[in-house]
Amino acid sequence: CALFGIYNIKEASNYVYLGLHALQHRGQEGCGIVTRDKDVFYKKRSRGLVLEAFDKTDIENLKGDIGIGHNRYSTSGDSSLVNLQPLTASFDLGDIAIAHNGNIVNAYNIKQKLISDGAIFSSNSDTEVIIHLIARQKGSFDERLVGALSQLKGAFSLVMLFNDTLYAIKDPWGFRPLAMGELGDSCCFASETCAFDLIGAKFIRELESGEIVKVDKYGVNSFKPFKSENSYRCVFEHIYFARPDSYLWDNHVYEIRKKIGQKLALKSSVDADVVIAVPDSGMPAAIGYAQASGLPFEMGIIRNHYVGRTFIEPTDSIRHFGVKLKLNPSSDVLNNKRVVVVDDSIVRGTTSRRIVKMIRNAGAKEVHLRIASPPVTHPCFYGIDTPTKSELIASSHTIEEITKYATADSIAYLSLEDLKEIVGESGYCFACFSGNYPISLKV
Ligand code: 5GP
Ligand code: SF4
Ligand code: MG
Repeated sequence: CALFGIYNIKEASNYVYLGLHALQHRGQEGCGIVTRDKDVFYKKRSRGLVLEAFDKTDIENLKGDIGIGHNRYSTSGDSSLVNLQPLTASFDLGDIAIAHNGNIVNAYNIKQKLISDGAIFSSNSDTEVIIHLIARQKGSFDERLVGALSQLKGAFSLVMLFNDTLYAIKDPWGFRPLAMGELGDSCCFASETCAFDLIGAKFIRELESGEIVKVDKYGVNSFKPFKSENSYRCVFEHIYFARPDSYLWDNHVYEIRKKIGQKLALKSSVDADVVIAVPDSGMPAAIGYAQASGLPFEMGIIRNHYVGRTFIEPTDSIRHFGVKLKLNPSSDVLNNKRVVVVDDSIVRGTTSRRIVKMIRNAGAKEVHLRIASPPVTHPCFYGIDTPTKSELIASSHTIEEITKYATADSIAYLSLEDLKEIVGESGYCFACFSGNYPISLKV
């Protein structure tokens, strides 16, 4: 999911809207904005993409100079309207609006307990438990917030409004990104720095693991009230999820992906005529591969950008168009060539199989797949939507078997060791590649 929040700026909704648009890649199922003006929350949530979900009147109606927003990508709960965020509620201390990126591992258990205590839930997203926990604590809002969040295990980057106060929060493990920026006199937060670029804000710093930043009329204050944990930043953000023009965890995402491609070229070189990418996710690594191998990089597959994830194939009879709706090979580039094709990851393996077939149909003599990540062998429980273990092709198949299934001439993955060398060994979660889950799933 994507988060954006801004404090103390005229017509805040405009900035939230633009911020969410820049973060559209982090979730396309639906989006929402909540603003605050004269003790009232203004709220609009809608399915679909940001640019389609809000019109001029919607943005004008979202009054006030404080706002938060969210793009949804579902990992728990379905994509119906009630699960879109920010979620809002009122309780004895006032009003709360909350937007969450991540996945709370023990949400189910907490929810069962709350329900048996009489709580009523209006969504099936894991985020709603946070509101219930806050409402049931005692003391000041900050005390309640800390008391509630201390009970959670898992990934939760949050932007939140409590009355006229804006909070930005990162869980003690630091799974999901959340950055702080500055625009004139106002303070803003975004999942990725590419949102700051669009609105002209300056990137200040990444939030620390377990940090709460509180922004109100007294200024910007930070505290770290939780028991400290080791950091487990999601390495898959670097591999696939984040935008290549974002600066994340002391690195340019683009640079990391290019280095991965260079490493692949050095470790798994093959005689070939041309390097191409599976667009867009394989692009930076393919460029790195081409540079390190000295082979020409070409646009061998062209992507149609107007196919959203919400696209519904009209009837069974045209279902077989599948991947062609989105990707088309250029036989001009591929005919009679030995082709290296770079993609960021193989999850189920169905994309790879189709891509190889597509490249062969365009006349390629050989197709060599190079994958810019280690084999995905384990599902994620911290906010990335991977299928169950049995659907992950690398969980039960060797590279030889996957090569055969994909009908490629060869497949090579980045090794986990090489990935660690590139991003750094410590401070990252590698669980979907290693099975070493930083937070036990039995909670
Ligand atoms: P598969 O092997 O499952 O057919 O698909 C692999 C492709 O899915 C890769 O091109 C990769 O870019 C993309 N991919 C990897 N992770 C995700 C994800 O979390 N969501 C979506 N929509 N695509 C993903
Ligand atoms: Fe990221 Fe993989 Fe860890 Fe999930 S399991 S947080 S996708 S590195
Ligand atoms: Mg892809």
